[in-house]
Amino acid sequence: MMMVDEDIDILVNDPYLFERTTKAQYYKHLNEKKSYYAPSVNNGGYKVGSQIIIREKKIKFDVRRVGDDYFYHKWQKSMLDNYIFKNNVKILNQSDQFYSLIYHEIIHKGFFRKKSFKKIIKLKPFLKFQGKKNSKDINILKEQLNDFIFRSAYKFVCPKEFSLGCNSNCLKNKYNFNFFKVSHFKEMILSIKQLKWHLLKDLSLRNIKNSSNLKIIFYFLYYFSRIMLYLKYFGIIRFKFMTVYTWLNLKSLFR
Ligand SMILES: [Zn+2]
Repeated sequence: MMMVDEDIDILVNDPYLFERTTKAQYYKHLNEKKSYYAPSVNNGGYKVGSQIIIREKKIKFDVRRVGDDYFYHKWQKSMLDNYIFKNNVKILNQSDQFYSLIYHEIIHKGFFRKKSFKKIIKLKPFLKFQGKKNSKDINILKEQLNDFIFRSAYKFVCPKEFSLGCNSNCLKNKYNFNFFKVSHFKEMILSIKQLKWHLLKDLSLRNIKNSSNLKIIFYFLYYFSRIMLYLKYFGIIRFKFMTVYTWLNLKSLFR
């Protein structure tokens, strides 16, 4: 029997086939009050959190797909080609496990979490140190990842899921402010103009994970956009306009 508490990350080459055969349901876009609220991939968005019913239990899956720039697409294809078996399930081979975990922590999350570090240390054949979590060892891991990406002719890419960090590539963009390490500045301005609060929320998260020097401002923008989503959920923004509209009409009636 399988006990699953966490989301399972699955990489697929044909998401439509996967959705049809597993009857996967995207559910995370439903509730504006939740921190992960945003439209899902089947709804013109970018969230891939889904649930699949297996033996009458709801199991959560993040359905990553080739070309979503979670990792460079050539690496994703190689991951799918060079799998190994564990309990009759296809999983990443040890090398891909090792480098994708480091990539996920450094690029997507912006820092090393304890439990991921433990997982990395278990992949001994690739380790170039004793296995303690200190800045020196983390720097060695970073160098190892850089070597791997360069050696394989892969790239660091910007994920289509906006709440993940994207780092160096996007910071080199000429429209962004290198000095403050702000990425996707134009998109953030646009999200405010278009009142797309989920986009502002997720791009703020991205800049926090990218370790921007303006982190504090992005925390503010993150909470601000969450408040706006709350108001939207309770219909308060619309209510305000309705009140103004009714007031103006009443005024003209009694004139
Ligand atoms: Zn980016």
